[in-house]
Amino acid sequence: MSAELIDGKQIAADVRERVAAAVSVFEAKTSETPGLAVVLVGEDPASQVYVRNKGLATVKAGMRSIEKRLPASASEEEVVSLVRALNADNSVDGILVQLPLPSHIDANRVINEIDPSKDVDGLTEASAGRLLLGKQGLVPCTPQGSVILAKTVRKDLGGLNAVVIGRSILVGKPLSLLLLAENCTVTMAHSRTSNLADVCRQADILCAAVGCPKMIKGDWVKPGAIVIDVGINRIEEDGKSRLVGDVDFDAAVERAGAITPVPGGVGPMTIACLLRNTVIAAARRRGLADPEL
Ligand code: NAD
Repeated sequence: MSAELIDGKQIAADVRERVAAAVSVFEAKTSETPGLAVVLVGEDPASQVYVRNKGLATVKAGMRSIEKRLPASASEEEVVSLVRALNADNSVDGILVQLPLPSHIDANRVINEIDPSKDVDGLTEASAGRLLLGKQGLVPCTPQGSVILAKTVRKDLGGLNAVVIGRSILVGKPLSLLLLAENCTVTMAHSRTSNLADVCRQADILCAAVGCPKMIKGDWVKPGAIVIDVGINRIEEDGKSRLVGDVDFDAAVERAGAITPVPGGVGPMTIACLLRNTVIAAARRRGLADPEL
């Protein structure tokens, strides 16, 4: 039997629509428009595309996009000063520093300069600490999007066995904490995990965030499982370049209950959740209740 496809494009479009509605409510209450500032240092072509797309999505959701560019030669102090100026600017609700930064800049230091109330990427130590402690904070976008997708299949994930493969700060660790907060029994697997295939076969929810094309084989998937494939890998196949996930989709789709495709699964959720975090940050910074999202 073929699995239900989890349509990340459609679900992300729904999230964006709800964000746009929340922006209207916010404007009616405050006569202000939420603003998202994106800092781009240098001219990395991929980063330029990401920043442009984020800016367009921000405007489409009815918010203000503030783009701040510095040359690749900018010093760490200059980048830090820019972040501090954005922290102090009351019209800025969210700050995102596009990574990677040039190698002479300590990205950790720059990220940790961001005011946690504006940390819409959820990458500061303060945001990570809040997530660990179960306190209110801004949650990293890709893991947040992954959980939203899983919950479209099953509203209550409580009691399910979740296996997260990958323990990065950006995806694996926060995703594990979010699933724990959903009352899953969480196993974190990684490059040193023994018998990974057997571990995966226990998963009611299998999340792959490795960066290794088609590594998760079809027979690693428990029949009926929810499979969330975070991986985005470019491969050459039959003389063509294409994107694939960490999961061997064609085989896994025959066993899973529901599965995210790549592309069109987790990917579109990342920007949608960035916009979601921005309108949430705007409300919280003004002491308003969290918007209905
Ligand atoms: P990362 O390289 O920081 O972490 C990879 C993790 O995989 C590590 O924790 C490592 O322990 C684990 N790993 C490596 N080899 C393994 C193996 N053989 N078996 C088990 N575990 C292994 O990567 P990341 O930043 O977490 O990204 C992971 C993937 O997700 C990448 O493909 C990336 O492109 C993708 N990604 C997608 C989005 C999105 O918007 N959809 C966002 C971020 C990352």
